[in-house]
Amino acid sequence: MTVPHRTSIMEIQRILQRKKSWILDNHKRMHSIRMPPTLACTAGNTFNLWGSVYQFRFIHGRDRYSIEVDDQYLVVNIPGYELNWGRVNLILHRWCLNQLINAIEYFIDLWSAILGVVVLSYQVRKMKRRWGTCYWSRGRIIINYRLVHGRKELLEYVIVHEMLHLIEHSHTNIFYTRMREFFPNWMELEADLAILSRCL
Ligand SMILES: [Zn+2]
Repeated sequence: MTVPHRTSIMEIQRILQRKKSWILDNHKRMHSIRMPPTLACTAGNTFNLWGSVYQFRFIHGRDRYSIEVDDQYLVVNIPGYELNWGRVNLILHRWCLNQLINAIEYFIDLWSAILGVVVLSYQVRKMKRRWGTCYWSRGRIIINYRLVHGRKELLEYVIVHEMLHLIEHSHTNIFYTRMREFFPNWMELEADLAILSRCL
């Protein structure tokens, strides 16, 4: 989309919002992933998904690889009777990405309507030092893959933070006032993110 040179970012967001249904119909929101397909998954390990701890259960002799949640177990269905860790890690990694993408899409749609902004694209990355980033001039947000391990509200909190940067670029008082209105429990969320950051 081209805009006149001096158009303010607020105006760009307004135009994008007006064209939102057209944009979403014609260009399904782009997303991309940038990370190596590795997870620490070894026998006896537990796995944190959306803030809950699951134990692995491996079931052999299935038609194909698949993963499902059953009570406190993360069930990994495996074809044949040999356990190929590389393959299991890859399947688990893809499955987690899928979980994450579904949740990100849900929160972006929800908060686009509330904030009146348009996210043109998002990217999932493994990052060492931050939970998210916003490239407001490109309408793009970056979300840390590790958020799949925390409860979903933490992911929502980070997504809203980055989406709010699309209209309020820096951490001004207005920015924080709005975030605190949206998340009155923000102190608890920040504390939980600090705990989760130990796995970064
Ligand atoms: Zn920020």
